[in-house]
Amino acid sequence: EIHSGDEIEELADVFNQMMSKTHDYIEGQERFVSDVSHELRTPLAVLDGHINLLLRWGKDDPEQLVESLEASRHEIKKMSSMIQDMLDISRLKQLDDFITEETVVEDSVTDLINNMKMIHQTSEFTFEDKLDDPQAKAQINQNHYIQALTILIDNAIKYSGEGESFVKVTLSENDKHIITSVADRGLGICEEDKAHVFERFFRADKARNREIGGTGLGLSIIANIAQIYHGSVSVESELGKGSVFTLVLPKADLK
Ligand code: ADP
Repeated sequence: EIHSGDEIEELADVFNQMMSKTHDYIEGQERFVSDVSHELRTPLAVLDGHINLLLRWGKDDPEQLVESLEASRHEIKKMSSMIQDMLDISRLKQLDDFITEETVVEDSVTDLINNMKMIHQTSEFTFEDKLDDPQAKAQINQNHYIQALTILIDNAIKYSGEGESFVKVTLSENDKHIITSVADRGLGICEEDKAHVFERFFRADKARNREIGGTGLGLSIIANIAQIYHGSVSVESELGKGSVFTLVLPKADLK
């Protein structure tokens, strides 16, 4: 038998939980907007600088003209991929907590690797499948799973250093989880940076990253995805040897 006092207490509990969630959400959005504004300011400032150069010297100096136009195009590309990434993040935020979809991971990984082989013909891909059940499902929307994996594989190739790149995807499981890992033999990440790579806009090793395009948002998107589905993502890495990123997701059909 429930007394009315208990009911009110229960209602108050639910109310408090909702308020605290809403509060976290708003705080997250505020931080996001301020991060983004800050990050867009740099490429805009660079663009502004080049436009000033063009106005002053562009007519008379063809070298300056080409250099500034190319640099401007580079900054514009950077901004548009930043905006794309940000749209991805905000879409994820809206979906937060409402999703309970399932994905047959083996099929998804096979498809994705086949596509990647077409796009990156000079990279070598291997797939190690340690799943007992080829139909094993993770509790995640398939688009989100593929999005996360695509980012990890793209990074493995992007940060592979000179020469051919090797990417190895492994699927395994334990009682409760499906474990997907993406390994490369690339540049690796130093000890101090490892703790930060999942933060929004963080890019390890500024010097080497200047040449490699990116926004520093990819891994934070994965961290978001992992969080939404009550999973986790982590990295092991050694500078100059390579990295292994591991995405752990709850199994579907556990009951
Ligand atoms: P982006 O690649 O756009 O910079 P990410 O969030 O995907 O953003 O990655 C953050 C940083 O982590 C990268 O700038 C890079 O320095 C480092 N990183 C990510 N993946 C790898 C990898 N496979 N090998 C080495 N460094 C990596």
